[in-house]
Amino acid sequence: MNTTIKSKKNKHTPTFYDVIISGAGPVGLFLACELALAKCSVLILEKTLEAHSPLKRLPFGIRGLSAPTIEALYRRGLLQELEIHKHLKNPHQNAVQGPRLQAGHFAGIPFHDGDIDTTQWKYRLPGSTPTSLITEMEELETVLSRRAATLGVEIKRGFAVTTFHQNNEGVTVQAGGQSFESKWLVGCDGSRSVVRKTGGFEFAGTEPEFTGYSARVDILNPELLKPGRNVTPTGMYMQSQPGYLAIQDFDGGTFHGSAKPVTREHLQEVLRRVSNTDVTISTLHIASTWTDRARQATSYRSGRILLAGDAAHIHAPLGGQGLNLGLGDAMNLGWKLAATIHGKAPEGLLDSYDTERYPIGAQVLDWSRAQAAIMKPEPNARALHAIITDLINTTDGATYFAGRIWGVSTRISLGGKHLLVGCTVPNFEFENGTKIGELMQDGRGILLDFDHNTSLQKLASEYSQIDYISATAKNQFGLCAILIRPDGIVAWATDNVIDIGELQKAIATWFV
Ligand SMILES: Cc1cc2nc3c(=O)[nH]c(=O)nc-3n(C[C@H](O)[C@H](O)[C@H](O)COP(=O)(O)OP(=O)(O)OC[C@H]3O[C@@H](n4cnc5c(N)ncnc54)[C@H](O)[C@@H]3O)c2cc1C
Repeated sequence: MNTTIKSKKNKHTPTFYDVIISGAGPVGLFLACELALAKCSVLILEKTLEAHSPLKRLPFGIRGLSAPTIEALYRRGLLQELEIHKHLKNPHQNAVQGPRLQAGHFAGIPFHDGDIDTTQWKYRLPGSTPTSLITEMEELETVLSRRAATLGVEIKRGFAVTTFHQNNEGVTVQAGGQSFESKWLVGCDGSRSVVRKTGGFEFAGTEPEFTGYSARVDILNPELLKPGRNVTPTGMYMQSQPGYLAIQDFDGGTFHGSAKPVTREHLQEVLRRVSNTDVTISTLHIASTWTDRARQATSYRSGRILLAGDAAHIHAPLGGQGLNLGLGDAMNLGWKLAATIHGKAPEGLLDSYDTERYPIGAQVLDWSRAQAAIMKPEPNARALHAIITDLINTTDGATYFAGRIWGVSTRISLGGKHLLVGCTVPNFEFENGTKIGELMQDGRGILLDFDHNTSLQKLASEYSQIDYISATAKNQFGLCAILIRPDGIVAWATDNVIDIGELQKAIATWFV
């Protein structure tokens, strides 16, 4: 059996779509929203019939969002639809150490709010969106599905993509025993992506060190377990709330790879070994496993086939970065693919998706490898652990780790002269109280002119994808003008007299 969710907008279902997306996870849904916002016809084919699952709900489904994701949702008017974070207390609160509030961790080593020097983030304005917040998978997918439906995206559930063929004109996709056609196919079908495997993408990387467990259990003697996150000589365990366990067992990923079901006896043996207690699990309600296997597609594009999210990269969920990385892919790809479809893309625009996102993915994979390496129960790792603990408790250390984990220090290498180029645009507040992020819901480029220069207005008017805004912001950081891409990334900026030729060149890199 399969189902089709047709949006109200979509009265006439096309037979040839601009884009088919395989997978209605958060990345597929967000990409669909970006494409539909840019007036592309989109079909999502999703393997599962049921959108809901206990593993997507709290506490298993808890997901930490970082600054770039929060900004992306805010700029598309979606942030206010997330509710759960308003009712949740700081997940690190169990680990409050005296007056020092834990703000996050690296490999289980906490860093603290009071140690972070936010003045080092030069272009981050006070009153910006938060640097991190907690949501759950189900909430995020619900919000994105709703938006996708409003924008005219068609979602077919119970349609697992099994194979596809591409030629110069398009792609034919087989799913649920039927055939679908489109100009482009994007694999957002998760870590075991059929699109990646069928498309022959190379998936290079490293094998796992551990099996991770998420489980809900009844424990006869819970007082034997310490609260919070406990890095032990044999692994790590955490009881986020009574009966909800996360465990890391350094077994080389063997158990996860065996595909054996998690039994009560097995989980109890692992928990006893890792916690070095005689803890007794009386009932196992639900459990899932994961590893720190770290692999990345060596290219995110093969002809008319593209990859995004876990389909393009997998790594340990330590420090919670995979979802943020995937949503960043979607934000980067959406406007570029749409411009290509509409014949409005300068040469190389679509390929810049790969060149911009691959290095960011590689950094995240290394970040998770570094954490797995220093959590390993061995003397070398313990020695490194001690050094990182010293560093993370300094101001520069805490600021560095917070900047990396919250994505505040993320910068795409675009080669511009100004420090802001490649960064997310500061959330400038204009004299009337409006913020620039509120003006980005249409997903268009913006030429922001603090100099009130008529030649800039004339230049912007030559490009249908660019809005021109002449305004004065409360804090302009001494800038004269900024070119902002539809994904909120600064493409060009100047503090000095505006060089129109240089600006023209910058515009022509991104817009036609
Ligand atoms: C325990 C744990 C904790 C985590 N915590 C965090 C966190 O705090 N922060 C963070 O950023 N990340 C976190 N992650 C990672 C994050 O959950 C993933 O990176 C994210 O879900 C990836 O989204 P996606 O849409 O790419 O893939 P998925 O969420 O896997 O979605 C893929 C979709 O594709 C569908 N599909 C699969 N095969 C097919 C097919 N053949 N045809 C059609 N559809 C198909 C699936 O049913 C699914 O709906 C965590 C992961 C785990 C395991």
